[in-house]
Amino acid sequence: MNSQSGKVMVVGGGIAGLTAAWELARQNVSVELVEKSCFLGGHSIGYTCKATDTCQQCGACNVEKMLKNVVGEPLINVRLRTEVSSLDRSKGFKVSLKKSSDDMAEGLILKGFSRHNSPLHVKGKGVTDEAPEGALGIEEMGSEGEIDVDAVILATGFTPFDAELKGTYGYGKWENVITGLEFENIVRENAGIVRPSDGKRPEKVAFIQCVGSRDERLGNLWCSEVCCPYAMRMAGTIKHDNPDAEVSIFYIDVQNTGKEFPVYYEKIRENVRFVRTIPVDIYPIENDSLKLRHMAEDEGSPSFEEFDMVVLSVGIMPGADSKTVSETFDTPLTVDGFLDDSVDSGVFVAGTAAGPGTIAGSMAGAGKIAFDAVKYLGGAK
Ligand code: SF4
Ligand code: SF4
Repeated sequence: MNSQSGKVMVVGGGIAGLTAAWELARQNVSVELVEKSCFLGGHSIGYTCKATDTCQQCGACNVEKMLKNVVGEPLINVRLRTEVSSLDRSKGFKVSLKKSSDDMAEGLILKGFSRHNSPLHVKGKGVTDEAPEGALGIEEMGSEGEIDVDAVILATGFTPFDAELKGTYGYGKWENVITGLEFENIVRENAGIVRPSDGKRPEKVAFIQCVGSRDERLGNLWCSEVCCPYAMRMAGTIKHDNPDAEVSIFYIDVQNTGKEFPVYYEKIRENVRFVRTIPVDIYPIENDSLKLRHMAEDEGSPSFEEFDMVVLSVGIMPGADSKTVSETFDTPLTVDGFLDDSVDSGVFVAGTAAGPGTIAGSMAGAGKIAFDAVKYLGGAK
């Protein structure tokens, strides 16, 4: 076994935090893993398998695997519903912890460490009789007090773009306009693709790309990197589920992520229509369907098209608490509002807290950050 020792606090229990914690433990470093919500896995634990006849390399299954590694690892102490209130660097890293707000658990029964699978049940506020016997009340969770660590890895993740800010798409008003994350929930809860308003299988589905990203008016100039491959995998799942379904992807240009991507893109184009324009607006019509107005590149006047369901590919935004995290840990923000990962002072940044990235990219980056932290511990001795 490696002789490295020391203790690192990892803030955030999404895929980057889990990976960093696991890699640190493999280097014989103790880890305090602090997660402000009541479950581990972050956004990515909600993603479903996109395998059709073959694996689509979405990486979702790696999240559950990593979660199980972490939960079974004695060197990693998991503190759910906990956040850092302050950091005192006058003598190393003295971290004060507090219970986080439990608003996120209102009305939920969380099944343990992840939202979906786990032996431990957590009962959210407002939940009474439907909670399983032995469920832990949300009030009983969370840590308070001070702990000393030797370094910190910030893996506080991202916030999905709030689709209501794109008012002309009617998100929040028209039931069958949903986000990609909601699409995932629908697939998981119904073991298939159905539209929210009536539970019917949609025959005509549109994806709209770059919702919230690459948008000058919103000041969000970055590409979120994940939503192109992600929408294509979802489109592939729809076609696999229902080969007669018509799927259209409205886009500006397609982001190439990874060496497998060009081959996959060419293949998916055989079954999915790509329309090079970003739609202007969406209106409800009869039967809960939607009318979408767009101006395609090769058309001189607006076109109208009807769909059963529209999926918005919302972008990756800086974490809602990135400013607070930046102040607490004295870590600067980039111009876009993500945490700057270029500063090396014993506080490291991993995963989407530093900017958009895929599951695979977040895992690879977090593994590297864990090694940087181990090197730092070696140098700090
Ligand atoms: S990588 Fe994605 S598509 Fe492949 S098996 Fe895992 S979850 Fe399924
Ligand atoms: S990955 Fe695709 S959909 Fe997402 S912001 Fe980039 S170009 Fe737009």
